[in-house]
Amino acid sequence: KNLKTHYPVLGGFFRKQIGTVKAVDDVTIDVRRGETLGIVGESGCGKSTLAKTMMLLEKPTEGKMLYDFNGEQKDVTKLNAGDVFDFRSRVQMVFQDPYSSLNPSKRIIESFDEPLRVHGYKNPAERKQRIIESLRMVNLSEDYLYRFPHEFSGGQRQRISIARALCINPELIICDEPVSALDVSIQAQVLNLMKEIQKELNLTYVFIAHDLSVVQYMSDRVVVMYLGKIVEISEASNLHVNPLHPYTEALLSAVPVPVVNEGKSKRIPLTGDVPSPINRPSGCPFSNRCPKRMDICTQVEPPLQSYGEEDHQVACHLYTKPI
Ligand code: SF4
Ligand code: MG
Repeated sequence: KNLKTHYPVLGGFFRKQIGTVKAVDDVTIDVRRGETLGIVGESGCGKSTLAKTMMLLEKPTEGKMLYDFNGEQKDVTKLNAGDVFDFRSRVQMVFQDPYSSLNPSKRIIESFDEPLRVHGYKNPAERKQRIIESLRMVNLSEDYLYRFPHEFSGGQRQRISIARALCINPELIICDEPVSALDVSIQAQVLNLMKEIQKELNLTYVFIAHDLSVVQYMSDRVVVMYLGKIVEISEASNLHVNPLHPYTEALLSAVPVPVVNEGKSKRIPLTGDVPSPINRPSGCPFSNRCPKRMDICTQVEPPLQSYGEEDHQVACHLYTKPI
């Protein structure tokens, strides 16, 4: 709720603060149990910072993060050590680069053993069994237990890091660009596997990527981010039929799929660069690149409001209703 993760920018000889990067700027979203919430945006839009903030790897500057601990909601930014431990057993992360979760100098069994030990699996035989089961879930056999990460292909490595996230039996997995580093031919395999596992274990995913077609394929709902802000939230199935925000339209028009809806088949090229996050335009953050910009857009920041369907929200003056 109203989450902000800002960083000071230091400069000059005395390393004084010369600005602020608003990586995540007043973001309010809810993640519903059992769904996949997709988050999409260009690099630098704040989606990885949002993921790290959700994982308590970055400290938010402001805002709350409410998590449902068996019916009791607690603000995870204010947990005591015991509850942080509980939270970390419920929420796991899968990164773009599997090397960041797999130690290259450790055999697979060692990489998995540590989190299991930390999370209370005391019996070594039970731990080994748990590791074998997690590897099976990602279609890898126990023959791989004593190998090193470099002995695997990129796709296998990513499956191993998914298995490692699964081994302590989490409820929510935050996936930050999990297939972006993989060949396109391997991407679909990993995505489909993730979908199967989700169904089987009744998991909740937050799925982050810069590629809208991948996010739409995986998600029930999609959040579109631009320069630290949410500009649109929509059901995934509705987004390509009825995109509202000009930025979403531009992202969609870059997706190389046959466009069924004739009226929307024109490409909308994005002009201009993504502005520096230190120097965000006043008013609407997209105003310097927007083909539909109006006078008000550089003066007033558009609020995120629902439009049409209840689950569809957009931050753009084309749709702003008087409050
Ligand atoms: Fe474009 Fe204005 Fe909407 Fe921003 S508020 S996306 S500049 S039309
Ligand atoms: Mg990123």
